[in-house]
Amino acid sequence: MKNFYDVVVVGTGNAALSAALSASDNGAKKILVIEKASKKERGGNSRYTNGAFRFAYKGYSDLKKIIPTLKNSNSIDYGKYTTADFMKDMQKVTNGKTDKNLSKILTGNSFETIHWLSKKGLKFTPIEGRQSFVVDGKMKYWGGLTLEVDGQGETLVDSLLKIVEKHKIKIQYETAAVDLVYEKNSVSGVEVMNKNKVEKIYAKSVVLACGGFESNPEMRTRYLGPGWDMAKVRGTKHNTGDGLNMAFKVGASAFGNWSGCHAVFHDLNGPEYSDLKISNKYRKISYPWGIVLNADGERFVDEGEDFRNFTYAKFGKEVIKQPNQLAWQIFDKKVRPMLYSEYDVKSATMVKANTLEELVKKLTGVNSQKALDTIKEYNNSINDVKFNPTIKDGKSTTGLKINKTNWANKIDTAPFYAYGVTCGITFTFGGLRINNKGQVLNKVMKPIKGLYAAGEMVGGIFYFNYPGGSGLTSGAVFGKLAGKFAAKH
Ligand SMILES: Cc1cc2nc3c(=O)[nH]c(=O)nc-3n(C[C@H](O)[C@H](O)[C@H](O)COP(=O)(O)OP(=O)(O)OC[C@H]3O[C@@H](n4cnc5c(N)ncnc54)[C@H](O)[C@@H]3O)c2cc1C
Repeated sequence: MKNFYDVVVVGTGNAALSAALSASDNGAKKILVIEKASKKERGGNSRYTNGAFRFAYKGYSDLKKIIPTLKNSNSIDYGKYTTADFMKDMQKVTNGKTDKNLSKILTGNSFETIHWLSKKGLKFTPIEGRQSFVVDGKMKYWGGLTLEVDGQGETLVDSLLKIVEKHKIKIQYETAAVDLVYEKNSVSGVEVMNKNKVEKIYAKSVVLACGGFESNPEMRTRYLGPGWDMAKVRGTKHNTGDGLNMAFKVGASAFGNWSGCHAVFHDLNGPEYSDLKISNKYRKISYPWGIVLNADGERFVDEGEDFRNFTYAKFGKEVIKQPNQLAWQIFDKKVRPMLYSEYDVKSATMVKANTLEELVKKLTGVNSQKALDTIKEYNNSINDVKFNPTIKDGKSTTGLKINKTNWANKIDTAPFYAYGVTCGITFTFGGLRINNKGQVLNKVMKPIKGLYAAGEMVGGIFYFNYPGGSGLTSGAVFGKLAGKFAAKH
């Protein structure tokens, strides 16, 4: 039958394509991948990423399994990152809320899954610079986030799609899933809208991997709260919560942090949805080396609370709470070379001055006198500890309403720089409840026959915050799992 498949996968992001490949590995013969976007806009948020994957590894020998040509020398320390370290980070950033079972699956299968992707033909490379520092002449990787896909998000999606095509899996663009076909207590396909034509596609099982609701201002406001309609979207405009809504219609259970999301400091004048050409360049996350002021001229976060990998995903939400949802990040000449390359883009909302007095006057929308007082107060409250960006150095302030607990350098050397930021939402944390086979559970915790979910659509993994690079790993791990059991269904 033309419109009948073993497995239909919804979406062409990392989770969907991992699910399709895994379904093929596990014996599904007729697999269809459907994508709401055009071929040009395919790949969802996965396409916008740096392609950085967090996973557990024992050291150089494990990394070499993923990159057979990986350099090794006395001047490079790749470190190690155990499953227990990954689990500890998951617990830490989610305040212990991450579902133990799901995070065990995520962390425990992380290496094996990335290795599987590399054996399929995905090429990885060390994240030199962003995730490493030179200390005493040695390149030292930190934070457990060591590899990214060579060519980042675009190559991730293009390569996975090429591999998928080699597996004789069919891909259909401009085909939006609008509903699930649900008959006799079982999901037996999807109803799709294809160029204004609605049709049914039947399948033995359906894997939903069509993202969260980050690009839907109505759902953002409903679940994340007031002000979230004002956020800018860092990724695709296509993740509008369709899969979540479809699953709820057949009785799926909601799970996880529905009022939470990954959101970062993002250029104040960035567009409503991101632009693939400079996507990640709107991000402004070198704040640990400076301070951040709101419209009242006050600091509102501890910029040095932890390594940026562990704070960047939650600070976007803090700026939503500030007047006019705006803030300015302040740096001086000493730390300017340490800022990520996105601070160099021409379109960045940046002002520069030779004195602090001059600088604060250029901060549009900010109480300049209060801003100046705050910077001076900050400068006068810093201890004498030596600055060291590779560790949480304890160079901190004392006596402030919000202290900066690490990397508190004085802002005292001209020229001074300020970057205007607002909130950029990356993806939402609330999702569906799944079991160990990736099956979506209903309200009485029983699997909905024929329905699987992966990627951003899975709830219960991330709460409040997230360790950088775990989104792609989660998509790959749960995509592989869902694909396997969807094929066996
Ligand atoms: C700028 C940016 C940088 C990031 N960097 C990283 C990083 O380096 N490392 C990391 O781990 N994470 C990163 N993330 C997070 C990461 O993108 C996500 O965690 C991950 O890509 C989610 O994958 P997914 O497959 O679940 O969703 P997506 O990749 O978003 O795929 C969902 C797909 O479903 C499609 N779709 C939606 N609705 C429908 C429908 N009704 N019918 C059919 N198709 C539909 C969408 O068009 C899309 O193709 C970043 C995110 C952004 C925005």
